[in-house]
Amino acid sequence: MTLTHLVLWGILLLVPYVKRPVVYLLLLTKSVSSIYFILNSPRGVSLNGIISNIVTVIVAIIFGEILYRTIDGLKKINCQLSQESQKAFAASEAKAAFLANMSHEIRTPLSGIRGITEMMMGSDRSDADHNYLKMIHTSSMSLLDIVNNVLDFSRIESGKEVLHSVPCNIRNVMDQCITPIKLTLLADQVSLESIVDNNVPKVIRTDEMKLRQIVTNLISNAIKFTDYGTISVSLSAHESELTLTVSDTGIGISPEKYDSIFTEFERVQTSYEKYREGTGLGLAITKKNIEQLGGTISVNSEELSGSTFIVTIPFEEASFDECIEKEAISASLSDVKTGIGNHSILIAEDNKVNQVYLKHFLEKEGFDLTIVENGEEAVASFMEKEFGIVLMDIQMPVKSGLQAVQEIREYEQKSIKNKTPILALTASVTNHEQKLFMESGMDGVCPKPVDMKYLLSSIKKHLN
Ligand code: ADP
Repeated sequence: MTLTHLVLWGILLLVPYVKRPVVYLLLLTKSVSSIYFILNSPRGVSLNGIISNIVTVIVAIIFGEILYRTIDGLKKINCQLSQESQKAFAASEAKAAFLANMSHEIRTPLSGIRGITEMMMGSDRSDADHNYLKMIHTSSMSLLDIVNNVLDFSRIESGKEVLHSVPCNIRNVMDQCITPIKLTLLADQVSLESIVDNNVPKVIRTDEMKLRQIVTNLISNAIKFTDYGTISVSLSAHESELTLTVSDTGIGISPEKYDSIFTEFERVQTSYEKYREGTGLGLAITKKNIEQLGGTISVNSEELSGSTFIVTIPFEEASFDECIEKEAISASLSDVKTGIGNHSILIAEDNKVNQVYLKHFLEKEGFDLTIVENGEEAVASFMEKEFGIVLMDIQMPVKSGLQAVQEIREYEQKSIKNKTPILALTASVTNHEQKLFMESGMDGVCPKPVDMKYLLSSIKKHLN
């Protein structure tokens, strides 16, 4: 191959970067100039040289055209893919926004149902009334579980979730997950026993919320699918791995269904079986949570003879001291009551039902309450009177909670006052929303439906 041929083929390297006419013009110019030199060569005209030059430039142009068409095709595919991915992203964002909205709208009335029911359960009632109230409470909590499951699933699916590893007292976590469930079983024909092996360290570092969700979900399923017998929960540790086992004597699962139960919206229903509520999201979320923690889940089961779910999760040991501060916050309700009852609280909440139960519970604790209906009134009241803490709803008429908080913070800065703790009392519970509240000057978030015990311990933490 002569230098001329090499140059002709070399020009093709420009194809990805330079437009067609320029490359073809270069090829032709090089070829014509080579033919010119051949024609004027002192060694005489080489016909072979001329033909080979012409053939090379034609082949190079054909080859160049193939390259251009391939590159154009790839560009088109790339462009289509990027459009599709933008569409998919927009659809996923729209879905997340819709779910967050829907969750907010359902949580607000649910908060009222929960609050008023708990309020009525706390007063003297006949056994029958108490049972009816308990049923309303359980049903509202089931509805909340469904909303949370859908929201959790969408959050995990979007891939935006991040782990929050904290030191956690694993025995307390197990106890706090198991005890409330145990209480609901008193009159049932199912018993729940649990054991935490001595080899499990006192404090481990993990995402506590996820761990709680995993334990609660597996035990709740075991109860849901067991009519008689025993549910056994055990936790043990081996080297740096925890093993959680939840066994039941319930309806069981046939082996060919093992895979499908971990798929979202898959529910295994058999004809002889009574209907059991559910969305088919629990195990899918549990599996994803476990995988995020770097663990595994497997199941051993036979139809009609119970199931055993085995979860392994790697862990890192943490020091007991790291946990003490956190434990102090989650003190018991009776603890919370002592010593903080004389503070005044500003509550900005436009929902009348929520106002009723907040007033009931907080006045019972001895707090002096000022209740306003929107952000503007909240800012005005704040400027008139000293408050120990502010509880601020977010979506309110006239002025939103976020705007009100910003104005309160500006007012504090201007008048060189200490910052008053402000807690968002909100039905907006996605990570993104909570981050926004904290960035706007809030000191904490108490999600709706309000868990009074949690609210009181947050108030205590911030008043201290
Ligand atoms: P849901 O409980 O809402 O139906 P899950 O994702 O938690 O959804 O469970 C999916 C399916 O797996 C259930 O519908 C049920 O058929 C089966 N399953 C889960 N846990 C058990 C269990 N402990 N015993 C029998 N079947 C179970």
